[in-house]
Amino acid sequence: MSGEGRFVLPPPRRPSVAVAGRDERLAVRRIWCVGRNYAAHVREMGNDEREPPFFFGKPADAVVDSGARLPFPMATRDLHHEAELVVAIGKGGARIPQAGAMGHVWGYACGLDLTRRDLQAEARRMSRPWDMAKGFDRSAPCGPLTPAQEAGAVERGRLRLTVNGALRQEAGLQEMIWPVAGIIAHLSALVELAPGDLIFTGTPAGVGPVRPGDELRVEIDGLIPLEVSILA
Ligand code: MN
Repeated sequence: MSGEGRFVLPPPRRPSVAVAGRDERLAVRRIWCVGRNYAAHVREMGNDEREPPFFFGKPADAVVDSGARLPFPMATRDLHHEAELVVAIGKGGARIPQAGAMGHVWGYACGLDLTRRDLQAEARRMSRPWDMAKGFDRSAPCGPLTPAQEAGAVERGRLRLTVNGALRQEAGLQEMIWPVAGIIAHLSALVELAPGDLIFTGTPAGVGPVRPGDELRVEIDGLIPLEVSILA
């Protein structure tokens, strides 16, 4: 088989995320993110909420564990928080029907889609790709995964983000324009999904700036919170 065997340089460390209450971790294959999945956030960004959602990616090694202390990212003066439900895929597939989609979910976590909003605004203006706005180093903090069968009805719960204890984002997950099953159906019609794929499912209204020294906490009912701090 091609691609196996010995390497000229030591292979990179495999990205992974923690699993609640276990020593084992989930190896991350790919990270996909949904754009514009809450009507109020779509409006605050000046877009039409009737547009279907779209997807973008982050490198797998952008994941960061809860508890991390992150350096303020390079090349931005406008770092934004986007608190999101993260779905981990446990069973792969292409063209997964919406009716069977939830059987492909391994678990859920609290996540942050950190965004260099100034670079995103420039990319939008120039019709350029979003990679440098969304896919930078340590841009995907992800809390410990809770297996789907232990998490209960996650999509009926609420999501909250606090910065230094002050509430900045709060919404019910049932406000998602495309719920998890619809996201999996749409995404798997574009790319084949496989175990270890993470999907950041979009952020509600209330996105805003993150500054050096800030402490961010994302909570979703039934899941373990995600906490990260930005170094002063
Ligand atoms: Mn997002």
